[in-house]
Amino acid sequence: MKTKIVKATDQNIKKATKEIMAGNLVAFPTETVYGLGANALNENAIKKIFIAKGRPQDNPLIMHISKANDIYKYVTNVPKKVEKLINKYWPGPLTIILKKKKIVPNIITAGLNSVAIRIPQNKIALELISKSNCPIAAPSANTSGKPSPTTAKHVYEDLNTKISTIIDGGPCSIGLESTVIDFTTRIPTLLRPGAITKEMIEKIIGKINLSKSNAKKIKSPGMKYNHYKPKAEVILIKTKIVKRFITEISEKNKVLCILNSKTKINIKNKITYKNDKHLGQNLFAWFRDADSKKFNIIIVEATKETKLGVAIMNRLKKASNVIIE
Ligand code: AMP
Ligand code: MG
Repeated sequence: MKTKIVKATDQNIKKATKEIMAGNLVAFPTETVYGLGANALNENAIKKIFIAKGRPQDNPLIMHISKANDIYKYVTNVPKKVEKLINKYWPGPLTIILKKKKIVPNIITAGLNSVAIRIPQNKIALELISKSNCPIAAPSANTSGKPSPTTAKHVYEDLNTKISTIIDGGPCSIGLESTVIDFTTRIPTLLRPGAITKEMIEKIIGKINLSKSNAKKIKSPGMKYNHYKPKAEVILIKTKIVKRFITEISEKNKVLCILNSKTKINIKNKITYKNDKHLGQNLFAWFRDADSKKFNIIIVEATKETKLGVAIMNRLKKASNVIIE
């Protein structure tokens, strides 16, 4: 199949909605990362997502809707706390998990009795969903296990020949996957940190729990898989960056350093980040770029684990082979 990257014109979005309605896949931009979309109520269409990505069948997908009221069609009960949260943060990078109704196919939830739902905050995504007249199941539009795609080109690198259309909406404004919060537990549980932080959620609904990564009892099946990994080995450094360390590693390796711009070290292959927003937006793109330039080690200077830094460090810890504390 020939894969086309198309501009987000009205005509192309209309064509894309036809693909979705016909049970085919379309990649589209959201504010978090690019999504690989299919009609969420069509089992055959959803199967195509798992095949194109090489995604394990037990890793459930997020269902994307365009109007908050649509949530009542797909879940058995919407607690007051959820209403408050979605009033505040939808459309936005916040995914809510609730008990599903029968209409939601088991394949999208990987057999779980709960479903993950969000409204993305991206004009193109919203238009595609509302015009397709169905909810859209969309995981990140990458090959399973690779860093999530934050540009149309990243999607093309992974899914060329596997899908017909990629709608190009430019680079994603956030660059990290959505926050996932589970409301099937008595106290809501944060399963994946994202740009809507724990503090932002607690400000609206009070105390929530953090999920413990307990391998035996994983609540979010996706959490057990190795996401976000480039081919290069990632070394995450939490202490002061020492030039001698980098120089020594560089004698035998092709090393790229991703450092805080305040760290003044004169070395060859260096990318600096200004703040967490800048790092979050670009982290996956820099990983992919490092792989394409055949770096075999990426040294990343850790950021503070507060606010957006929590989500960034979550991805960095999953990507890294070595953490120096
Ligand atoms: P992705 O679409 O690649 O961003 O992954 C979606 C994430 O949401 C994965 O980590 C899934 O395991 C998680 N998820 C989706 N649906 C559920 C659900 N019903 N219960 C728990 N986690 C879910
Ligand atoms: Mg993903």
